[in-house]
Amino acid sequence: METEKPGALRYPPRLNQAESDDLVQAVKNWALAHGLTIRPQPSVVSDDVDPQGLLAINVPVTLFPSPFPRQCFDQARSVQQTYNELYAAISRDEEFLAGAVDEVRDGDEFTSNLWDVHLRVKKEGYTQNLSLGLFRSDYLVHQDLPGNEPQIKQVEFNTIAASFGGLSAQTTLLHKFLSTSEYPLLQQSITPESLVLPENDSARGLAAGMRAAFDAYGDSELGHERCILFVVQDGERNVFDQRHLEYALNDTLDPIRVFRIPFSQLLDHTSIAQTPKRQLLYHLPRNRSKTFEASVVYLRAGYGPSDYPDQRAWEARYHLERSAAIKCPTVLTQVAGTKKVQQLLATPRSDADADADGPSILGRFIPDPDDAPLSAQVWRTFSNIYPMDTSEAGRKARQVALDPELCLHYVLKPQREGGGNNHYREDIPVFLEKTPESHWGAYILMELITPPKQENIILRNGKLEEGGVICELGIYGTCVWNQSTGELLRNEEAGYLLRTKGDTSNEGGVAAGYGCMDSCALV
Ligand code: ADP
Ligand code: MG
Ligand code: MG
Repeated sequence: METEKPGALRYPPRLNQAESDDLVQAVKNWALAHGLTIRPQPSVVSDDVDPQGLLAINVPVTLFPSPFPRQCFDQARSVQQTYNELYAAISRDEEFLAGAVDEVRDGDEFTSNLWDVHLRVKKEGYTQNLSLGLFRSDYLVHQDLPGNEPQIKQVEFNTIAASFGGLSAQTTLLHKFLSTSEYPLLQQSITPESLVLPENDSARGLAAGMRAAFDAYGDSELGHERCILFVVQDGERNVFDQRHLEYALNDTLDPIRVFRIPFSQLLDHTSIAQTPKRQLLYHLPRNRSKTFEASVVYLRAGYGPSDYPDQRAWEARYHLERSAAIKCPTVLTQVAGTKKVQQLLATPRSDADADADGPSILGRFIPDPDDAPLSAQVWRTFSNIYPMDTSEAGRKARQVALDPELCLHYVLKPQREGGGNNHYREDIPVFLEKTPESHWGAYILMELITPPKQENIILRNGKLEEGGVICELGIYGTCVWNQSTGELLRNEEAGYLLRTKGDTSNEGGVAAGYGCMDSCALV
């Protein structure tokens, strides 16, 4: 992608020391004043200095919005509602999900345990038909050869704890501020007219999804005031991102009560009503006689094994799942978001299934022939993903993964979320060789997407990092559906995230310390 802008000498502009100091100061001040913030890692501010966790610093952020091809941005947005509908349909297909879980079961106790929670609740019967999805579909721009049309290729689809919707809206506003303020440098190098910064309503969009579920739940039959529970991790550093969603639910004429509760304290401060409906009750920790009915449970925890240190934690997840609260997500929706499911969707049908609808199992979820263009739109966003099982395709993938040359074009992924779990390129054979072969089926092998080169300057922990970057676009979606009937009560696209990392880093997670926040300048 060209990073030179018309009328500018270089993008991003080269800064002298005074200009750089000024711009950094402007970014820091705006970020702190607008909650574009994160709690510092102990390596930046030690626990001795800040034992109470009082301090916040600006979240790592680019000084300039990154150029992003407009057609790719539009393509990603236009397919989001179809993606919402697709994942709602997948989460309703128990047989398909059971098959996916079976394929990874041997090497993946976590996914098996999740599935067991579903089976336990199924036995006694679910009491809530409605599900809430706050999704994020992530993409990289892919360009075969310089000069060819760039396209988006999906990295993954997140169905649990899809984060940064709160901070992303703020990042867009920061870059908008810098481009239109009296800040002289930006006015010289990038005129506001040459910058197309799309609106980004991610915080309000996600909050609106929660509100829709809250409204669909209906009044409390027990006469309690209702609330939304944010289930969080102990010591969460990315707390302001979550708070922006909470404030978006509150800063209206019709505010909704939100309580934050650590996953580890769920069994201490919530109970289930002894009624056929099994309402989830939240008891104020400081005044247990004050009880609220939780209509919606929003999980920003529970997506990885570290949140389940013991059996009690699994009991807590079961406790949520069997309650009448509308879950974001249910266990079924969480399993729908695994990389295994993504691989199954992206694997072309074999000749034996040649009379099936659609290019892969995708046709099972988007079956209507009138929707064929939608299905094709989704299909175009897939890249090659292979199973690592003992099927014919799996055996081929294993050969590729173990080959010292071929493996350089792939990433090996387990069924995990939250960053830092994948194995890249030459590390793949090394990792496989020390992993029992019976566990290989719990992984998928994905072709690396190689975006065009571009540059930016990242402000992280008070220091500037300048050079080549890779930008990952995420599109948020909100969806409320009926698990029994499939009826969609809501299906909306809900803004975007642009995360940028140095081009030498494999991972791009912001909270995990690899990437940073950014926004799109459409080109
Ligand atoms: P997680 O659920 O842990 O976020 P991801 O599938 O998003 O896992 O992988 C983490 C990061 O690895 C991504 O943000 C991206 O930077 C990189 N990555 C993953 N898949 C690919 C791919 N196919 N091509 C290039 N980079 C990838
Ligand atoms: Mg990811
Ligand atoms: Mg993920």
